[in-house]
Amino acid sequence: MYPLLLVRYGEISLKGRNRKSFEDLLMRNIKTTLRGTPYGKIRKTFGRIYIETNGSWEEIARRLQQHVFGIVSISPVLRRELELGSIQEGARLILEGLPGQTFKVETRRPNKKFPLTTPEINNALGGFILRSFPHLSVDVHNPDITLHVEIRQEGAFLYSQVIPCLGGLPAGSSGKGILLLSGGIDSPVAGYLSMKRGVAVEGLHFYSYPFTTERSKEKVIELGRLLSPYNAHGSFKLWICHFTEIQKALQTISYPELSITLMRRFMLRIGTELANREKAYALITGDSLGQVASQTMESIYTINSVTNIPIYRPLIGMDKQEIIDISQKIETYETSILPYDDCCTVFVPKNPATRPTIEQALEAEGELDVAGLVEEALSKTHCIDASTSQEII
Ligand code: ATP
Ligand code: MG
Repeated sequence: MYPLLLVRYGEISLKGRNRKSFEDLLMRNIKTTLRGTPYGKIRKTFGRIYIETNGSWEEIARRLQQHVFGIVSISPVLRRELELGSIQEGARLILEGLPGQTFKVETRRPNKKFPLTTPEINNALGGFILRSFPHLSVDVHNPDITLHVEIRQEGAFLYSQVIPCLGGLPAGSSGKGILLLSGGIDSPVAGYLSMKRGVAVEGLHFYSYPFTTERSKEKVIELGRLLSPYNAHGSFKLWICHFTEIQKALQTISYPELSITLMRRFMLRIGTELANREKAYALITGDSLGQVASQTMESIYTINSVTNIPIYRPLIGMDKQEIIDISQKIETYETSILPYDDCCTVFVPKNPATRPTIEQALEAEGELDVAGLVEEALSKTHCIDASTSQEII
């Protein structure tokens, strides 16, 4: 019934010379997302995108709604001839299946050549609808149904449904960031929220085989795969760093209560090196203030001090339930709660320090060859495409 999808996108970020690259990227991302669906031509006019469909528009709309950042809303649109009878017939087709008791017609007429004025069109259509659907009455303030009519050069466009979408900025429009991706609930959500603001995210996972199992790695690859459709290019590069030597070294220090603090400092050092190599502008973590000992303000301060690169913590102000709600929405939750060990859960000391200072951390690190351990771990880091599980490097 609906041959066209009208796609609306954010306008605030469309000022100036960013506009064209924003739109081109959004078009590219839409095409990537719609691969394998029955879509036809995609056109961009006057700040909107129109996608032709062969009628089965629901699957196309669902994918765009679920996965494409930068889209504000979508409407399935009926295109009719620029002729009143044809427009009325279109109105009838749209209203036929809809629930509701009241309606209004809202017309826009950018094509001034059309013989009827906007109020004339509203009246003619309103009268037609009242006659065709005796159960409907007009309510201009709070109608159940709003029938939108746009009189354009290319024809009359009619729609009533406005499907809200994800908003945000097109995936990849901002630059690259490295997400420290564990197997937990939080870090995939942090990745998703960064992608929402246009970050092209690559994952970095610290893996401590044989202390953690192959299956825990598979779980993280699966999380990467689940994040792929939101990400730039519809894929997800995942760096796997062998962390075992560092974990072993951390078991030998004379300050076991600092082992988590030091472990996190190693993670940030390695992440920073990788970010520099990959030309990324930020690290991203799933920290939420006060959630665990390593996420107190003092801990974050001491852990953060090993690097100058910006660290994005999109969950910092969120409660656990809010994070869980998002992870359920993006469907990473079920994978995140699978009970496989993470390197942080295996090595948790009995009483982790909640107020570690930089001086204490430096003193404990004095017992280790920090630079050597970082270099060794980096040399053993390889990369896979989580969307296909193919080895890249
Ligand atoms: P998550 O649910 O993301 O695992 P968490 O609440 O369990 O988070 P922590 O284990 O303290 O919190 O980890 C804090 C952050 O450190 C994680 O969100 C993640 O960004 C990073 N992190 C922890 N473990 C790893 C790991 N094995 N590999 C990569 N990053 C990790
Ligand atoms: Mg964790």
